[in-house]
Amino acid sequence: MVVSWVSRAVHSLVMAAKYNVVFVLGGPGAGKGTQCAKIVEKFGYVHLSAGDLLREERAKSGSEYGELIDGHIKNGTIVPVEITCRLLERAMKVCTQRCLDRGAAGSGRTDDNIESLKKRFDTYMNATMPIIEHYESKGLVRTIDATRNVDEIFDDVSKLFA
Ligand code: ADP
Ligand code: MG
Repeated sequence: MVVSWVSRAVHSLVMAAKYNVVFVLGGPGAGKGTQCAKIVEKFGYVHLSAGDLLREERAKSGSEYGELIDGHIKNGTIVPVEITCRLLERAMKVCTQRCLDRGAAGSGRTDDNIESLKKRFDTYMNATMPIIEHYESKGLVRTIDATRNVDEIFDDVSKLFA
């Protein structure tokens, strides 16, 4: 059974590999997370795990979906697809949408457009990530979830300076 889950997961990967967005499917414990971590490392993708996003959202104080997500996770049932998609969309747009909004608001930056942004994210993954990884291996990197509002983020930033 596990073998068939794994081979199905690999199959979905192969089918979708020519696109920028790859869906990795498979039963619980099929090894999706394990393979995705390797895909991120080797091919420079960003991995958005629906399960991780839901667990993160559940843990947020004041989340309007927290209780509902918690119920579904405990029951092993499926969280309404609109909620999962909203979380995925939010995670995919965070940075790009901010730069596009900044461009639309008249930043005057010639690189706040979708073509430049694609290249800037490639550069980030190829040129900046290795540097982050280098310092991470020395224990010098502190990571902060920047998907929240400015003040929540700054609370965490402040702790690093305290
Ligand atoms: P998923 O994200 O699909 O639920 P994980 O990647 O978290 O699955 O893997 C579930 C468990 O199985 C983890 O403990 C992982 O280390 C282990 N695992 C992953 N791939 C394999 C494999 N090919 N052979 C044996 N164990 C594996
Ligand atoms: Mg997983």
